[in-house]
Amino acid sequence: MRRYFSILLSVFFAAASLKVWADSLPAPKIVKVNERIHALLGPMEMPTRMNQGYMVNSVLIVGDTGAIVVDTGFTDEIGAMLAKQFAKLTDKPIRYVINTHHHGDHTLGNVAFPDARILSSEECRKLALQYGPDWLAIIEGIAGRKFPNTQVLTASITYPQNSKSALTIEGIKMLFWVPQAAHTLGDMMIWLPDDQVLLSGDVMVHQVTPSFRDARLKEWIQTLHEVQGLPVKTIVPGHGPLMSKQDAAAMHQRMAGLYDGIAAGVKEGLTDSEIRQKLDLTEWKKLHNFDEQMGANINKAYLEIEADSF
Ligand SMILES: [Zn+2]
Repeated sequence: MRRYFSILLSVFFAAASLKVWADSLPAPKIVKVNERIHALLGPMEMPTRMNQGYMVNSVLIVGDTGAIVVDTGFTDEIGAMLAKQFAKLTDKPIRYVINTHHHGDHTLGNVAFPDARILSSEECRKLALQYGPDWLAIIEGIAGRKFPNTQVLTASITYPQNSKSALTIEGIKMLFWVPQAAHTLGDMMIWLPDDQVLLSGDVMVHQVTPSFRDARLKEWIQTLHEVQGLPVKTIVPGHGPLMSKQDAAAMHQRMAGLYDGIAAGVKEGLTDSEIRQKLDLTEWKKLHNFDEQMGANINKAYLEIEADSF
């Protein structure tokens, strides 16, 4: 009897702590971009046990009879928390989820939107199928617990690499822009011409160190250059606060400057640690998560440039 009681008690506490975790997720900062677009900005830190992996920016676009969501968080719990926030902003059903790239912090919350069709680049879909389970393992390791309800759900409608597709969804004009490569091999940005708003995913991040882990720097910098040709008023980046076109130009310069500095070192035959000593990282050091990301970033850039120079 006592034994059953203690099992019952531990089940109760496990259930209670799950509920506490889901309730204790940091709240997004909600910014109204215009009458039909809201940005839900996540924390700027790396994933931790405290934030439970909540770090992504998401976007809600309210259309004629339904709504569109861009990026859904790292776990089913974050997706559910976002769904609750969206419900406070619109009573229209969420009909579409767009994933800007395959990384777990942007896609593993898809499961919280079971009635939505998922859209992404073709490469994003492939990479999510391949690496989704690894991303789930990463966040389970950081959070220190399992997320049994989180599943890898991928797009049913996809767009090819190096394409721009104009379409109207729920009465909203959109251009799906899939560059050759950038932050990953499968980024997709969403340009809203009537709103002059660009939803960039992690092709742009603001006040945060970008991650180069799956990037192609050369094409990324070219994509940032092309963004300067858009008549954009507001950019919702993948992480960090909203950006202006000037902020995007500053990111482009920072990335191009780093690339050129490393390329010059490679040309001189220096090692990556010698190059690191020579680089001027003043502007980079102002960004969040510099210490956690920048060493690996320089190494990644070095390897790409070295491979390209053969
Ligand atoms: Zn991200």
